[in-house]
Amino acid sequence: MEQENIIIAVDGYSSTGKSTLARDLAHYFRFKYIDSGAMYRAVTLYLLRNGIYDPQNKSLDETRLGNDLPYINIDFHVDKASGLQTILLNGEEVEQLIRTMEISESVSQISRVKFIREKLVEKQRAFAEEGALVMDGRDIGTVVFPNADVKIFLTASPEVRAKRRFDELKQKGYEVTLDEVMDNVRQRDYMDEYREESPLKKASDAVMLDNSNLNRKEQLDEAIEIIRRYTQIFGKERS
Ligand code: C5P
Repeated sequence: MEQENIIIAVDGYSSTGKSTLARDLAHYFRFKYIDSGAMYRAVTLYLLRNGIYDPQNKSLDETRLGNDLPYINIDFHVDKASGLQTILLNGEEVEQLIRTMEISESVSQISRVKFIREKLVEKQRAFAEEGALVMDGRDIGTVVFPNADVKIFLTASPEVRAKRRFDELKQKGYEVTLDEVMDNVRQRDYMDEYREESPLKKASDAVMLDNSNLNRKEQLDEAIEIIRRYTQIFGKERS
């Protein structure tokens, strides 16, 4: 198997730490990392900013969405100084702006929309043409890359997940309560699991990894072990 073509899919519920694991794996193997959730968040930001989605009554102006969608350009950029990856919405760096509760509260409504998904899935597949990658999301192993070399389905208890997201938001200075975060995590799980378009589900050939009681290093080690079982890429990773 050529290292260049390797695709590692990391799917799972909200706030399971998919991005942390996917980023750590990408760093370990020196693969590209793509945060597909950030792409849905950036589209949500665009629609809120332009009044195309109204969060009060959860209404989407489909005509304006249809007109604007071809012009919503999403890309990633690696900051040379910090080495951190950030997302660009029509050339504007929006990494922090897409992580707010306001976006979290609307994103699952937006990610249900078929033609938004089609556009983003096309873009996600195009990233794989640039070389080996790790991508995290909800439908990466089922829809985006059904033939991914390794599929990991990450899970953790809702309490653990809400506490993690709460700590993260607090650390960034957002005023939220644990109950609000818990509600949001539960609502997003429900909507992601029961939506018609590409619902969140474990691919039959995905390996389940429960990280409720694992720290960052332990979950990385377990994931590397899973990848070891499924691929021939060892001996080529970082020394
Ligand atoms: O991963 P994150 O929590 O940032 O994703 C935000 C939202 O984007 C999810 O709650 C889900 O509704 C949507 N999403 C999706 N498909 C993906 C990635 C994210 O529907 N592949």
